[in-house]
Amino acid sequence: MLDALVVGAGPSGSRTAWNLAKAGYDTVLIDTAEIIGEPCQCAGLITPRTFDYLGYERPILQEMDGARLWGPKDSYLDFRASETKALVIDRPDLDRSIANKAVDSGAKLLHGHTYLGHEKIDGGIRSEIKNKDGKFTLESKLLFGSDGPLSRVAKNSGIRAKREILTAFGADVEGYQGRDNHVDLFVGSDLAPRFFGWGIPTGPNEGRIGLATTLPHRPMSFFRDYFRKGAPSKLLGGAKIVNLISGMIPFGTANPSYTDNVILTGDAAGMAKPTSGGGIYSGLISADAAFEVADRALQLGQFDSKTLSPYQDLLKQRIGGELSKGYHLRKAFLSLNDNQLAEIIEMLGEPNVKKVIEKTGDLDYASLAAFSVLKEQPKFIKFAPLLLKPFI
Ligand SMILES: Cc1cc2nc3c(=O)[nH]c(=O)nc-3n(C[C@H](O)[C@H](O)[C@H](O)COP(=O)(O)OP(=O)(O)OC[C@H]3O[C@@H](n4cnc5c(N)ncnc54)[C@H](O)[C@@H]3O)c2cc1C
Repeated sequence: MLDALVVGAGPSGSRTAWNLAKAGYDTVLIDTAEIIGEPCQCAGLITPRTFDYLGYERPILQEMDGARLWGPKDSYLDFRASETKALVIDRPDLDRSIANKAVDSGAKLLHGHTYLGHEKIDGGIRSEIKNKDGKFTLESKLLFGSDGPLSRVAKNSGIRAKREILTAFGADVEGYQGRDNHVDLFVGSDLAPRFFGWGIPTGPNEGRIGLATTLPHRPMSFFRDYFRKGAPSKLLGGAKIVNLISGMIPFGTANPSYTDNVILTGDAAGMAKPTSGGGIYSGLISADAAFEVADRALQLGQFDSKTLSPYQDLLKQRIGGELSKGYHLRKAFLSLNDNQLAEIIEMLGEPNVKKVIEKTGDLDYASLAAFSVLKEQPKFIKFAPLLLKPFI
């Protein structure tokens, strides 16, 4: 019987497998994809902190120290920090690099292998797996569900979370007239209702653009409009689509994110941040917490949910505070109409407020900037008094 079967070789699953294999546990990592990291479902924006946390670096396409925030009225605010706030990376390359670390540490990686379901057996779990040759089973003491937003492991384990699922659509384009080292963010109900759109320069005259929204809206029609009207069209005149991407972003932490013999990590556990939709950094944090709990369970030879329960506390301590503040901010954001959004953007442009954002803005810890802005300009509380109260 294996010590661990990890389903999903995204950042959180590969990091989990890497940790387990490094500690000497007999680990198999499977992914339905034939090529790890493909198809890419990501804008590839991470903080420098993510590489520090990961413990190594990968090639950087651009360093971002600025952002343009485009409001519903097509005007924009320009923020410029004195340090690099985000890095544009090749996301498939990142995924493959972490999976390679797992393999180099002794994990067995099976491409083109899909987890179908599992049953409890004496001392562990029997998982059913399908590849191009047919179906077979693997037995393991622990099963890790690192299988993304629609986690089948979570579903088959009876782990349910109250979720808001965003759908995203985007593209790599040639002819994007972004500003070097600046991310473009688009807000407003005509552009990207209930979330936002983005434009990220990746090189001279090229970039990644996209948006996410929630039902009943669908992202594709708003994406088409990017080329035809409003603020994005000003940056995309004549741009050519090179490669389309789509995907889902789940908000809502599974609590608990474990059950007997099973632990969820990353998007499967609801680690994506409700402020930015980013989930790579928080997914890595969940992977490390999952490993710590699994290591103890494997040493004890006990895999019941009580033994795995410290996982939830670790998640709460290490990332839960930011996720829960993010939910408050998201609720406040959803309560705003376009006129209020335009008013807020104008207020964010006040020199003292702008300075605070440039200093404290942080993709991983967006609540820090929100808190600092409210402290600097308490007038913002009028937009959602109850929802913003936890920040003051
Ligand atoms: C359009 C878009 C843009 C984004 N941009 C950013 C960004 O710029 N920065 C950021 O930090 N985050 C971003 N995110 C979020 C980020 O991509 C996720 O939070 C992150 O990928 C979660 O990592 P994970 O390891 O939990 O899951 P995933 O990366 O989703 O990996 C899950 C893996 O499981 C595999 N899998 C699924 N089901 C099975 C199965 N049954 N059997 C076997 N394998 C299976 C999949 O093939 C996949 O490889 C974006 C998301 C979207 C949709």
